Amino acid sequence: MTSVEDGCIFCHIVSGSIPATISGENEMALAFRDINPIAPVHILIIPKSHLENAMAIRPEDCAVIAKMFELAQSIAKRESVSETGFRLVMNVGDDAANSVGHLHMHLIGGKRLGLMG
Ligand code: 5GP
Ligand code: ZN
Repeated sequence: MTSVEDGCIFCHIVSGSIPATISGENEMALAFRDINPIAPVHILIIPKSHLENAMAIRPEDCAVIAKMFELAQSIAKRESVSETGFRLVMNVGDDAANSVGHLHMHLIGGKRLGLMG
C-alpha cells in the first residue's frame, strides 16, 4: 500500500509524477540516483510509503526497513561497491542538514570517503 503525502517530492517520485533515474525497486522500497551526487555512486533508497524520517520508524515498520536494506545490498553489488566499501546514511533534522522529509538512506561509494562529522 503506497501513501502519497501532499507536497512530498519523494512520494511524487514513487508515483512517477516527478522523474528520477531509477536504480531498482522491490515491493516496498525504491532506489534512484541522487540529483546532486557527492560520489561516483550516490543512490537514495526510500520506502514507497511515506515515513518522515528515522524518528518515525516503529516496530511495525520492520518489513519495509528490511526491504530497504535488501535493496541496498543488491544495488551495492550491482554498482561494484560491496567489496570496496560504501556508506549508508540517514539524516535527521537540521544539524544533519536533512532537507527532504521522506525517509531515505543514502548509499554512497565509488571513492575513498572522508571521515564523518
Ligand atoms: P537529505 O539532505 O535530506 O538527507 O538528502 C536529500 C537528498 O535528496 C539530497 O542529497 C538531494 O540532492 C536529493 N534530492 C532532492 N531533491 C531531489 C530530486 O528531485 N530528485 C533526486 N533524484 N534527488 C533529490
Ligand atoms: Zn513522501
